[in-house]
Formats: sequence, C-alpha cells, structure tokens
Amino acid sequence: MNSEMDISQHHVLTQRALELGRSGDPACVPELIRLLGMPSAGIRRLAASALAKLADFGADAALCVAALAPVALRDPHPQTRQYALRALKCYGAEARDYLPDLDDLAANGTVKDYVRKAADSAATGIREAIRLQQEDAVHKCTRCGREVSPEEHGRSQQAFQRTFCDACFDEVFLERRNFDTKVELNKTIIAKAGALVQSDGERLIADWFSMHGIAYRYDERFRILSGHAIRPDFYLPELDVYVEYWGMDTADYKIGMLKKQQLYQHEGKRLISIHPADKPRLDEVLRTKLSFFGYHIPASRGRTTAP
Ligand SMILES: [Zn+2]
Repeated sequence: MNSEMDISQHHVLTQRALELGRSGDPACVPELIRLLGMPSAGIRRLAASALAKLADFGADAALCVAALAPVALRDPHPQTRQYALRALKCYGAEARDYLPDLDDLAANGTVKDYVRKAADSAATGIREAIRLQQEDAVHKCTRCGREVSPEEHGRSQQAFQRTFCDACFDEVFLERRNFDTKVELNKTIIAKAGALVQSDGERLIADWFSMHGIAYRYDERFRILSGHAIRPDFYLPELDVYVEYWGMDTADYKIGMLKKQQLYQHEGKRLISIHPADKPRLDEVLRTKLSFFGYHIPASRGRTTAP
C-alpha cells in the first residue's frame, strides 16, 4: 500500500478491481487501465489480472496490450510484472510487437525467476497465437467464393497469383490453355513475311507492312495496360504504334473492343484501328492513319488497293 492512498480508498479500489475482473464486461477496460496506473502495486496487479480475464470477453486487444506492456516490462514490483505478463499472453498475436522485449526479459538474469518464466511463457504463447492465426486465415476462391484450404491457396497463388479453389484452378488452367491453343489454331493464314495470322484482314495488314518495309510484331503475348491483360494484334516497334484489326461483329466482341480502345487511350498508347469495311481501301486507310502520327509512307507503285 502506498502512503498517498488511505486505507479505505485502497480497499474500495481493490474491491472495484476484483469486481471489474469478474464482470466480463469489456466496457470496463478504460477504468481498469486507470487502475493499472495506480500507486498501489496490489491494485495494479489486480487490474492486470482483471484485464487478462476480459481478454475472453472481447476487450479491445490493442488498447489492453498498449496498457499492459509497459507494466509487464518495467513495473518496479515483480509480482505486478508477472500478472501483467500473464495478461499480455492472453492477448496473443496482438502483442507481437513486444516479442523482442519479452525475449530479452526472459533472458535477463537480474530479474526474479518467476518474472523470467512468465516472460518466456508469454512469448511462447504469443508466438503460438500468431502461428494459429496464420493457419486459420480464411481465403476464398476469387472465382466461386468458396473457402479454400491453405494448400489450395498456396498452389493457386503460386500458379496464378490469385486464389482459386481446386475446381476453379482446373477450369481456369484449361480456359487459358484452350485460349492459347485456339489462337494458335486460328493462325492458319500465312502472311507474306511468314507470320501466321488469324484472318484475311490481318493477312492484308501484315502484307501491307511487309510491302512497305515496316517492321511489325504480330500477336505478342499479353501486355498489361492499366491492370488488364490485352493482346495487341500488331505492334510496330519502329513507330511505337499498335494496330488492331477488329475482325468480328458480335456484341461481346464490340464491348471488348471499346474497352480495349479505352485502355490504349488511357495509357497514352498510339492505336490504329482497322475494321473489315476498311479492307477494300486498306492502303489509303493505313497511310492516312499513320500520317496522323507523323509517318508518311512513300507511295508504292501499282500495289495499292485504293480505287
Ligand atoms: Zn472456386
């Protein structure tokens, strides 16, 4: 007991600390934290003990840990430290930041054995709580929403950097493989320069580039624009221009086309769009569109499709 506190006041606060500990009411935390700062070591000990009990009743863990840690590590009264250390252990993973201090305390030969043991026990308990927390982390399949096991999570993260359940993993894997295969199978039309293209329109475009000595890359792998994977039809590395041939006419395809065009625009990429209707006058269209970017292609003799 401390001289600053008379006997009756000490008795009242002792009873209060015991009462709050038994209450199971997490709303008592602020009052207990005040008691944890009292001059009486006995009251501090009871407050620490009460905070430990409230851990199971949903007390604000961050708040409790912040109040308990200084007492656990530095209280002049060893028994108070012991109780604060036990309480800290009850808040488990929330006390992770104090692990180095607890390890130091457990190894400190100048403090009482029971304080060192309590520090060691707290550190062990906190580490175990962290481990369980990591194990229990709930991951959900981003495709179907089902909860996935840690194994499923690990495997799909490694393969796709996304979380998929095993069933969705297989489907996504097949979808991607089929998509790649389909594109390969579609590349049956051989352009003049030897590039395999997917359609007659693409062949005309590829031939036009070859004829004018314009280097192009056809069907590059995916590029990421604004987080979306897109696959440009042609890229002209010397001019830094993308050329897309919008060969299909379905609604889905048109939505994809608009989205793709917005992405190019958003990224400041230079895009030339060619549509099936441009085919009869492809030379003129490409020539005109390239001139917008400042590239003037010398007229080729007698091989223009323009009327
Ligand atoms: Zn799934």
